Amino acid sequence: MDILREPRVTLIARPQFLEPAHLPVQWQGDASDGERIAEFAGRLCYMSQHNPAGRTTAEYLRNILRQGHGSVFEHASYVVLIEGISRSCSHELVRHRAGWGYSQLSQRYVDESHAAFVMPPAIQGDEALEAAWTRQIEAAQAAYVAAVEQLMARYEWVENKVHRRKLAREAARSVLPNATEVKIVASANVRAWRTMLELRLGEGAELEIRRMAVACLRVLTQEAPALFDDFEIFRSEEGGEAGRVGFHKV
Ligand SMILES: Cc1cc2nc3c(=O)[nH]c(=O)nc-3n(C[C@H](O)[C@H](O)[C@H](O)COP(=O)(O)OP(=O)(O)OC[C@H]3O[C@@H](n4cnc5c(N)ncnc54)[C@H](O)[C@@H]3O)c2cc1C
Repeated sequence: MDILREPRVTLIARPQFLEPAHLPVQWQGDASDGERIAEFAGRLCYMSQHNPAGRTTAEYLRNILRQGHGSVFEHASYVVLIEGISRSCSHELVRHRAGWGYSQLSQRYVDESHAAFVMPPAIQGDEALEAAWTRQIEAAQAAYVAAVEQLMARYEWVENKVHRRKLAREAARSVLPNATEVKIVASANVRAWRTMLELRLGEGAELEIRRMAVACLRVLTQEAPALFDDFEIFRSEEGGEAGRVGFHKV
């Protein structure tokens, strides 16, 4: 049985900027396509493509973030594959709606007999708690395997094998714990990412989703620093990392 102790976040898609030849911007400094799209959109609002202040993309976007000009950040979207998070963590993530899209592993179709489980951060590092938690998870996994077997037998008369498996797995999953690992593809535009990150990096957020948000922030900041580097990551007094936003969007 695999026990996972941290999430894995992989960037799987980034925006591509196709600059219109008839509206060229006087760019200053290097930038990624997502950052360029945001600057292009911002400059369109004021027709300032000639860049009168001679700002780099990073300087320009910082000013837009400071002003809270949110729509500029809705044009660039980033897609990540998130693995190693629990079903309860993904349930919290998918509450973020505006600007988000999700595709999550289906427990109705996928056999969870060999699923991995995510140990909550609060349990990690305490030998007795870890041992008790592992025993409970093993028992739940065994209950799932037994339930699938019994349900497959009960629905033996269902000719379509795929349908029969689905009937068995969708009922058996009810005994799987919240800690069962899910894999999820999550996409969001930058404004939506920033809203989620601000809420979930905070010390009031649940520890696992906070850890996931920190991992997402690191991936996004590496990809497009000017869109995310006003966030600050710090060590939380109660353990683990947390974060705060530099430019809060009202
Ligand atoms: C610390 C913490 C504790 C929480 N505890 C609970 C809990 O106990 N129970 C619970 O059910 N949830 C809980 N939540 C989830 C919370 O209620 C939100 O569902 C979640 O944070 C998503 O936030 P959002 O709706 O602002 O995000 P998004 O869906 O990403 O929306 C972003 C913003 O768009 C606007 N918006 C989006 N949809 C609408 C709409 N339909 N109408 C009007 N404006 C809209 C709002 O301004 C919103 O803030 C908790 C969240 C946090 C961070």
